[in-house]
Amino acid sequence: MKERTDVLRELAELGRLRDFRPLAGRAGARVMMDGKSLLNLSSNDYLGIGGDDEMLARFYAEMDDTSRMESFAPGSTSSRLLSGDNIVAHRLESRLAECYGAEAALLFNSGYHINIGILPALFGRQDLILSDKLNHASIVDGTRLSQATLKRYRHLDYAQLRSLLEKYRGEAERVVIVSESVFSMDGDVADIAELVRLKKEFDCELYLDEAHAFGLFGKSGLGKAVECGLAGEIDFLVGVFGKSLASMGSFVVCSRQLRDLLVNSARSLIFTTALPPVIIRWNLFAFEQMMQMDGPRAHLQSLAAALRDDLREQGLHTDGETSIVPVIIGEDAETVRLAERMREAGFLLFPVRPPTVPVGTSRFRISLTAGMQWEDLQALPGLIAEEVRR
Ligand code: PMP
Repeated sequence: MKERTDVLRELAELGRLRDFRPLAGRAGARVMMDGKSLLNLSSNDYLGIGGDDEMLARFYAEMDDTSRMESFAPGSTSSRLLSGDNIVAHRLESRLAECYGAEAALLFNSGYHINIGILPALFGRQDLILSDKLNHASIVDGTRLSQATLKRYRHLDYAQLRSLLEKYRGEAERVVIVSESVFSMDGDVADIAELVRLKKEFDCELYLDEAHAFGLFGKSGLGKAVECGLAGEIDFLVGVFGKSLASMGSFVVCSRQLRDLLVNSARSLIFTTALPPVIIRWNLFAFEQMMQMDGPRAHLQSLAAALRDDLREQGLHTDGETSIVPVIIGEDAETVRLAERMREAGFLLFPVRPPTVPVGTSRFRISLTAGMQWEDLQALPGLIAEEVRR
């Protein structure tokens, strides 16, 4: 048996030991850490809503003696199936369904809860799950909790997905293809049209996690499936509120029947305290604002394009096409060292290491927000390149 101290020592030797770093204070895209103001390049606050004090003030201005307990309370005190349900949750679900042109929507407490909840609830022993190899850890955990057979296809390799379908479709009752639309660590994008073609040809269901696309792409920021005009073909369209809406929680847009089944079987929905009323009310408020934010969406994409160009000009290895801009360094310990140097220089970056990303691809995941300007970023590519050469 390996001693626990050895586990920690080995992680440290590999440059993979992790710990928390408390932040104090926040203003726009900047945060305070260890008494220093840093540009926050490590949040998922893509639209800058989390740093928007004026929007927060408008939200709380709606609070009065009547609404305080009804929809600003910090806790729901029960599972949604008991006394934790709230009228605002129904309003938010109806509005989501309406905006996506779908029959129904259902809230969960987080993206993690939704991905570990839906797959085991609806796919069992006779079924098959086909999952992109770079899908998020919460999807991986959902596939592990499910009794269904799991086959993983190489990242974005739809020829391999097709051959898995040709080989195994006949043996399974239900089959679901699971993919992110924008991938969290590389900022690259799934071919949704191809996924829909395969789903139809092989009579499968399609599960699309839009965690990093919701708020950013498509009409009113509703995501990549809407951008492609294919939202109606997605059986489980998942979005989260923790990123672009700077809040907490998640939703699935689906048929009325799937919603009813999930309410009766998704353990991560049934056996947990429902989201607090204040969070649900914020999610509805911020969702309405988000749909109007075409200006910040366009600004964010142009910032990302400029940063990618500059990183490449400096000879650095980047990828993807969204506001998640990876800089692949490779070595774990070197990535840790570089991240420390960037923090000293005023940029809040953390090393992303295995197991979050494949071995040998440790990186920075530069996450831009619409609250930033090019002047905030322009020194960064040169600084990283200089340190890499050192
Ligand atoms: N899905 C994806 C693709 C994610 O990247 C994440 C979080 N990074 C989640 C789900 C989990 O969402 P949450 O933080 O709301 O649990």
